[in-house]
Amino acid sequence: MKPAPFQYHAPKTVDETLNLLAEYADDDGRVIAGGQSLVPTMAFRLARPKHLVDINGVQELDYFEVKDGKLHIGAGVRHSAFEKPVEDGPLGRLLAVVVRHIAHHPIRTRGTFCGSIAHADPASEWCAVAAALDAEMVAESKRSGLRIIPARDFFQGIMTTALREDELLTEVRLPILPQDTYAGFAEFSRRAGDYAIAMAVATYRLRNGIMSEMRIATGGAESVPRRMTEAERTLIGRPPNLGTFQAAAHAAVKALDPLDDANVSADYRRGIVRAMVCRALESASA
Ligand SMILES: Cc1cc2nc3c(=O)[nH]c(=O)nc-3n(C[C@H](O)[C@H](O)[C@H](O)COP(=O)(O)OP(=O)(O)OC[C@H]3O[C@@H](n4cnc5c(N)ncnc54)[C@H](O)[C@@H]3O)c2cc1C
Repeated sequence: MKPAPFQYHAPKTVDETLNLLAEYADDDGRVIAGGQSLVPTMAFRLARPKHLVDINGVQELDYFEVKDGKLHIGAGVRHSAFEKPVEDGPLGRLLAVVVRHIAHHPIRTRGTFCGSIAHADPASEWCAVAAALDAEMVAESKRSGLRIIPARDFFQGIMTTALREDELLTEVRLPILPQDTYAGFAEFSRRAGDYAIAMAVATYRLRNGIMSEMRIATGGAESVPRRMTEAERTLIGRPPNLGTFQAAAHAAVKALDPLDDANVSADYRRGIVRAMVCRALESASA
């Protein structure tokens, strides 16, 4: 199938983009970034935007910057930019591990980090990372100005976020992890490159062999990615070993409200989450 007719707009600056969104968002205007989620849905006519505002020509959105202890990721940055560590520490290494799980190489060269966050597929790897690290989403529009939305408020449901129709997600900010942070990631999908059935991100620091500053998040398993505080609590003040990791995985499963669909039952997802939380913690400690 071919997409329904639409009008194409190609702004060159953020200001032009915001003006176009102010004018067309109410008339089914949409941003297009990498197009790797939007174009297939348009081809199936599941989405029929009347206006596409293409941000690929907005060069000022194509940046990384480390500022105030955060990695700032502009809306033009593609997934593939993370294949080599973008930062010389545990955060850069974690992102380089995670990116290999996103789709296939050609998709990674087009799709954008911020596009994944804006699209908010529950099985998006970047969304799980954003939830784990309490990312900040920077949204801009002519009507509301600049808003900084924390991850816990940003993800509101399956492909539903706190972004307003006329807002551009200009940037996502991730905290730079201290050098002594242990970070791990695990996901399960049926075939390499498929969307995950479930995934987990885990980070912690060690003080005298005891874990602190725990962060565990799951993705793909529930309607939104989120930190599993119940699992984190079981690990604070304890040593990293298989027994404590299994206790955390058990706590995560108990707190889980899993998706249940024709392909993957809630029970199966619980089992996968148990394994992924444990594996993410193990890979962090390896
Ligand atoms: C075969 C296939 C397999 C895939 N597998 C995975 C996978 O395993 N994991 C995964 O995470 N993704 C996967 N994807 C999706 C891919 O990662 C997309 O690149 C990503 O979801 C969206 O990024 P994009 O830049 O392509 O956004 P687009 O497709 O351009 O846009 C997606 C949505 O976000 C909005 N949007 C985009 N950017 C902005 C912005 N800056 N501000 C406001 N709104 C914005 C658009 O309006 C649209 O509604 C897969 C895609 C395909 C085709």
